[in-house]
Amino acid sequence: MKHFTLDELTRSDAARAHHLDNTPGEAARVALELLVARVLDPLREWWEGPVRVTSGYRSPAVNRLVGGVASSQHCLGEAADLTVGSRRHNRLVFEHIRLCLPFDQLIAEQPDAEGPAWVHVSYRAGRLRRQVVGGQ
Ligand SMILES: [Zn+2]
Repeated sequence: MKHFTLDELTRSDAARAHHLDNTPGEAARVALELLVARVLDPLREWWEGPVRVTSGYRSPAVNRLVGGVASSQHCLGEAADLTVGSRRHNRLVFEHIRLCLPFDQLIAEQPDAEGPAWVHVSYRAGRLRRQVVGGQ
């Protein structure tokens, strides 16, 4: 991982506030490293500016706390929510991932006319669905 640390991929205000452990196990850590190597690091190098991960790994307890779906790829270390600071720029990032990078699922979250509030992207070992939700 060149541009991201395990700490920023596992940091969770909700976990801290509720004294929940959000340390990933070995499999989730390996998945996070793959997500960074294939998607996040290449994205950061293209963008040439800060890419902030607002939610990466979530333990099942943390995921329940934040209202994530039970099957969330965040719990497997396969997904990250990210923003580059504005909806307009998030749209550019979303389009770049859609057109130029490998991914399993890509979601424009809470979009308005300007663009998404944040971008959810996942990657996993094996077959990639390349499922795109929103962003038009
Ligand atoms: Zn997400």
